Amino acid sequence: MSLIRYKQKRHFDETPEPKGGKGKAGKLIFVVQKHSASHLHYDFRLEMEGVLKSWAVPKGPSLNPDDKRLAMMVEDHPYDYKDFEGNIPEGNYGAGNVIVWDTGTYTTYNGDSDEKSLLAGLKKGHITFILHGKKLKGEFALIKIRGGRQENAWLLVKADDKFASKEDITTRTKSVLSDATLDKLAAKYGNEKGDIRGSKTKKKNPAKKGVTKEPDMPAPRSSSLTASGSKKKPLR
Ligand code: MN
Repeated sequence: MSLIRYKQKRHFDETPEPKGGKGKAGKLIFVVQKHSASHLHYDFRLEMEGVLKSWAVPKGPSLNPDDKRLAMMVEDHPYDYKDFEGNIPEGNYGAGNVIVWDTGTYTTYNGDSDEKSLLAGLKKGHITFILHGKKLKGEFALIKIRGGRQENAWLLVKADDKFASKEDITTRTKSVLSDATLDKLAAKYGNEKGDIRGSKTKKKNPAKKGVTKEPDMPAPRSSSLTASGSKKKPLR
């Protein structure tokens, strides 16, 4: 049911992304994919109800409890998305390159896999969980921003535990499934969708007919000001 939006946005004869796939009984998994779409971001995904609940995090996760990272909730992704790395061709939704930046299992804060309490937390707008990844470890929280202009806006925050650190974890750029980085994929696929933040990539082909024109992730709050501000380009 909840994959309807995911499927509507994609043409599976054009994109190598998985069509479906259901989670299996056992430990819940999480995955963080680094995605050089129109804007570089990290897709943070938690398995719940057999699908991956997903948030786009422009700056990526932080191990520093002082950092509150904006996380825009996006459509559920199929469980099989957890292994997806590669290229989403130009003209498709989310066109760009993807690596599996981190993955592992996760539990609720008390160490079990109680999906009921996770789903209740999701509904309430506050989930606490413990990640057992290769890069991300320890307790994190996702907290919905109340009264904001965008109802999908959450914050991803590290709890202050023994895994908290001031190390910038995003300097670790390699996939945890392969030796891929976004730079390597950009070279392989002959595009400019590399590791550079705020990618300078220009669209070579405008979106094809029939492709959803929505951005691959909701724009951050500030851009809605720019959009309505209709500033003229400076004259040269
Ligand atoms: Mn994405």
